[in-house]
Amino acid sequence: MIAEILCVGTELLMGQVLNTNGQFLARELAALGVNLYHQTVVGDNPERLEAAYREALSRAEVVITSGGLGPTQDDITKRVAAKVAGEPLVLRPEAEAMVRDWFARAGREMTPNNLGQAMFTPRTQILPNRNGTAPGAIVPVGEDQFIVHLPGPPRELEPLFREQVAPWLAARSGRVLESRYVRIFGLGESMVDTLLEDLEQQAEPTVSPYCSTGEVVLRVTAGGATRQEALGKIEPAVAEIRHRLGDKVYAVCDTAEGSLAHSAVAALKAKGLTVATAESLTGGLIAATLVNVPGASDAVRGGFVTYQSVAKTLLLGVPAEMIEQYNVVSAQVAEAMATGARERLGVDIAVSATGLAGPGGGTEAIPVGTVFLGLATAAGTKVIPLHLTGDRERIRTLSMKHAIHAVLRAAEGSPEQEGKQP
Ligand code: ATP
Ligand code: MG
Repeated sequence: MIAEILCVGTELLMGQVLNTNGQFLARELAALGVNLYHQTVVGDNPERLEAAYREALSRAEVVITSGGLGPTQDDITKRVAAKVAGEPLVLRPEAEAMVRDWFARAGREMTPNNLGQAMFTPRTQILPNRNGTAPGAIVPVGEDQFIVHLPGPPRELEPLFREQVAPWLAARSGRVLESRYVRIFGLGESMVDTLLEDLEQQAEPTVSPYCSTGEVVLRVTAGGATRQEALGKIEPAVAEIRHRLGDKVYAVCDTAEGSLAHSAVAALKAKGLTVATAESLTGGLIAATLVNVPGASDAVRGGFVTYQSVAKTLLLGVPAEMIEQYNVVSAQVAEAMATGARERLGVDIAVSATGLAGPGGGTEAIPVGTVFLGLATAAGTKVIPLHLTGDRERIRTLSMKHAIHAVLRAAEGSPEQEGKQP
């Protein structure tokens, strides 16, 4: 299969916006084994765009466009494509529903020109866009050629391509596409990039990172004539990533679904273990995140939200003198909280968190971002001190993730609890 990339936008032509979509699409096509011989950038000008379409279609089976799908007058990509395809743009009810739904969910007023985003040629396959208003599209041109439209913003284009266009291209070119998702905790994005730079630059398998607070997920993708062939390319890369990142890799998944909490709940269930939480600065976030995993009730017994010191004493039995002596944000209190929760709920593993999320209240001895986690297991209670940075939300989120990571590790390291009733 031969494809071409056609990026539309005067801002790209003039260099005001860097054409990262061209780079992204080219790399993805290489991973799919699709041949790419030309990339074009054209401004928002109907005549020149039409000429660019015709030229691309004289060489390629599939022309992938980026940009110009919005509701504004200069967004001409679709209109000119319809002209080239020789078919009219008609209002497509399924696309209209998507656009209306997007505005309803975003709580924004829809203007009549937004309906332009629901106009496609009758044979067009419409691609839902969960990150923006304009759906993507696969527009047949004649019997065996296609123009694929993708929205300009990379955060819309990239998932749309990966989730909908890549499988379509793979199926059309008689290839299968496989991905594995390597989930990493405890290494920043730039450190991951540094350690894996050569892998992230290679053509196949493609290794692309996605980041969220404290976590990096690497998607490793390859194509092949068969599933085995694709996996044969992926597996050595995953092994190499594991080798380089060691125990920072906490899971390798077949799908993009997954999280520390999913892994922790799965590990607890696999061993027949129960868990409880004792939370101060996270205020229930650890328990809520665990419970968000379907089936968590087999493993999560319950938890304590003990925000003021008196609650730590009343609910968890942390001695008031201990809090007085060591400070509520201390290793001793974290340890006593976890031990108290484990004893009171009779669980295998209890995790606690006490710390200072800020923005106020920091001192030289206990600055904002100081957090102590307690982890109580059959082997005793240990304390994990953390020195986190960022705003209140980030410190609370990171505390929660570290706590769930600790539970995951404890579950993995625990012996199986056979025949134990949760
Ligand atoms: P919108 O509905 O947001 O207008 P659109 O599909 O009409 O989306 P454009 O208006 O062409 O897309 O581009 C929107 C923004 O997306 C641009 O301002 C630019 O920031 C970004 N963008 C467009 N094309 C590219 C590209 N090739 N590479 C990187 N970013 C791009
Ligand atoms: Mg636009």
